[in-house]
Amino acid sequence: MLDAPEMTALAAILPREMITDAARQEISAVRDEIIRSKGAMDVPTDLVQRAAKRALGLLAPSLRRVINATGVIIHTNLGRSPLAKEAVDAVVEAATGYSTLEYDVKSMARGSRHAHCEKLICALTGAEAAIAVNNNAAAVLMVLSEFAAGKEAVVSRGELVEIGGSFRIPDIMALSGAKMVEVGTTNKTHAYDYERAITPETAMLLKVHTSNYRLVGFTEAVSAREMRRIADQADEGRDARILVFEDLGSGALLPSKALGDNAEPTAGEALKLGCDLVSFSGDKLLGGPQAGIVIGSKKLIDRLKSNPLARAMRLDKMTLAALEATLRLYLDPERAREEIPTLKMLEAPAEKLRARAEELARKITAAMPECAADVDVVEEVSRAGGGSLPMYDIPTYAVRMRFRQGDAQSCEEHLVKHGAIPIVARIKHEAVLFDVRTLVRADEADDIAASLKAYFAPFADGNAKGKEDAR
Ligand SMILES: *Cc1c(COP(=O)(O)O)cnc(C)c1O
Repeated sequence: MLDAPEMTALAAILPREMITDAARQEISAVRDEIIRSKGAMDVPTDLVQRAAKRALGLLAPSLRRVINATGVIIHTNLGRSPLAKEAVDAVVEAATGYSTLEYDVKSMARGSRHAHCEKLICALTGAEAAIAVNNNAAAVLMVLSEFAAGKEAVVSRGELVEIGGSFRIPDIMALSGAKMVEVGTTNKTHAYDYERAITPETAMLLKVHTSNYRLVGFTEAVSAREMRRIADQADEGRDARILVFEDLGSGALLPSKALGDNAEPTAGEALKLGCDLVSFSGDKLLGGPQAGIVIGSKKLIDRLKSNPLARAMRLDKMTLAALEATLRLYLDPERAREEIPTLKMLEAPAEKLRARAEELARKITAAMPECAADVDVVEEVSRAGGGSLPMYDIPTYAVRMRFRQGDAQSCEEHLVKHGAIPIVARIKHEAVLFDVRTLVRADEADDIAASLKAYFAPFADGNAKGKEDAR
């Protein structure tokens, strides 16, 4: 195999051991296939080509840009929040040279990486102190480990959430060493449930934002303010104060204009309600890089800073640069709404989107053969995503394609797999929908049109095979 021309050609671009490994792996994969087929399968004639393709796979970038035409703004599978230009510039600056990551220019001595974002987070939330770590899951684990390990943490049965990607509150609590004390029922938890659950071993009342679902109907939950009052009552005569900690999930820094003030509590509001500590993500409604932020009193945050988990889960310089630049944009709320892509997409008025959808529809129509599909602009709903605002239908406009030639499924596959840039759209009632709300670059409309042009090309030849080719 190694002497085949396909393989020798690779020697110019890949080390020989890697080419050999690819051949071995392909042989092994084929052997397994043959065994599984119980001998019904022969050695494929294209074994060499398959090995060459496997070797070449090492050179192909795996983490690639995609075009998000789903209308889901904080799309976890597609990388959540795109960064503001200022944040990207800050990343490039921090990454291409040396930086003050842990160097204090004023004292000309070692500094703390925690210092870079703390003042901004405090200014924006009203908190006394703050720390940012790798993500909110890490933040929650760290808070539980520091303050509730070996003790009891009380949590409502209605808030034992699972967030996508295997973040489950009971599992995180178990990992932290905190003893989970469940109170209430799935739909109703009352103040007295917390009151009765408190024992001398209680270290914390935990509140978890039901990010990606809502309990509706016959329900009751206890507010953070009420929880603090319960903790205060129980505190009398105790040495250590019972902490109220809220995992806020998305943690907006600004109220949403488009969705109304009460759509999602801001991190600062949660703190003011009486929480001792609040944690939230950096890349959900905040619109920054992946991070988990904890805010609270200096005394509590100092304890987190010296917890070994803070070291294990610390942010790197690129993330810190992006987070700091994003937070700085918030100092001017209007500017934040204009320049932080997540906020801008969330706030984009439907009327403006209609014009963009019409523009995209024109480009698509011009790119494809006449009568291959019916293209129109329809009213649709976008979603905040990222476990935020699950009940909010955000009115939007989408381009709808109903197929006369080809079909929605094969077109969807073509858009993802066969273009220069994967394009993720939505399918609804046998039509492909492109929601323009989540298009982030002006040239993405052209990319969509170009990919559709390629999809319809086999049909344009007028041959009956077209449909099969497209598949
Ligand atoms: C999203 C979310 C998390 C996890 O945050 P990451 O930043 O993704 O680690 C934890 N808790 C809640 C309530 C969430 O919504």
